[in-house]
Amino acid sequence: MICGAGGQLGQKLIGAAKAAPNDWRIFAYNRSSLDITRPEDLRVAFAEARPDICFNAAAYTAVDRAESEPDKAAAINIDGARRLAAACHEAGIAFVHFSTDYVYDDGYNRPLSETDRTLGTSVYARTKLQGENEVMRHHPGAYVIRTSWVYAEYGQNFVRTMLRLGREREELGIVCDQIGSPTYAADLAAAAMQLSASGAKPGVYNFANSGVCSWYDLAKAVHALAGIECAVRPIMTSQYPTPAKRPFYSVLDTRKIAATVGTPRHWHEALV
Ligand code: NDP
Repeated sequence: MICGAGGQLGQKLIGAAKAAPNDWRIFAYNRSSLDITRPEDLRVAFAEARPDICFNAAAYTAVDRAESEPDKAAAINIDGARRLAAACHEAGIAFVHFSTDYVYDDGYNRPLSETDRTLGTSVYARTKLQGENEVMRHHPGAYVIRTSWVYAEYGQNFVRTMLRLGREREELGIVCDQIGSPTYAADLAAAAMQLSASGAKPGVYNFANSGVCSWYDLAKAVHALAGIECAVRPIMTSQYPTPAKRPFYSVLDTRKIAATVGTPRHWHEALV
């Protein structure tokens, strides 16, 4: 059972489930068929799917808008996640939940491991962090996968924005002092499937593609691969203020998940 199936990750989870070496029947629900904040929707979907495992790709992901809509973000990222986790635990259903690099304290300058300090400096980050805690509390067998800089061929993401802006404009200023690891949603989905089938210890796992870059580096790489000629200039975060604060350093240490699913491929290889 896949919740949030209309999103970047949700779509890729459907593909990964189809490709998995088993004879699963797949029940994929987008927001209009299952709103995770509505208990009645959950009841109906569980009765229909009778799942063995549930992947929750549903989330409030509008990071900046969350600053002015904290209740909406909390209803989905905290209450919705808790309700889903609790319902799965009660019914003996395995549960896989997704979270974000934003939950880490932005005070490190080395890859972040699962046991590092968490903080949450934006509404989105705090709701995701609290959502994780609720999930673990209500479903001790759950997997929570923290990821970063997710993109796919569809949906709203940095890679697609750079393709569009690169074609529209002659020059772009892109932030160069935020460092992280891009994650191709298909690689994340495949890793989540593998982890959930592995019998690995439940708990928190990081997943991102390997390698490190800034948004500026990523924009340059996207344009180079697409043959787009646009003058990309590095700018500092202070020149591009956003309502929600972003971490300066959010490279994820993926050694824990790599022990089960293998080392993620390099972000540049995934981008190609
Ligand atoms: P998307 O925004 O692409 O997908 C989220 C999906 O959740 C959307 O289809 C949305 O539907 C749906 N949704 C929202 N509210 C509800 C609800 N109440 N009930 C059911 N579905 C709902 O996000 P991603 O696929 O990129 O994100 C997947 C996960 O990865 C999330 O947990 C996110 O926090 C995490 N993550 C994402 C990152 C990124 O860069 N995108 C980075 C780090 C972590 P609708 O569009 O109709 O609102």
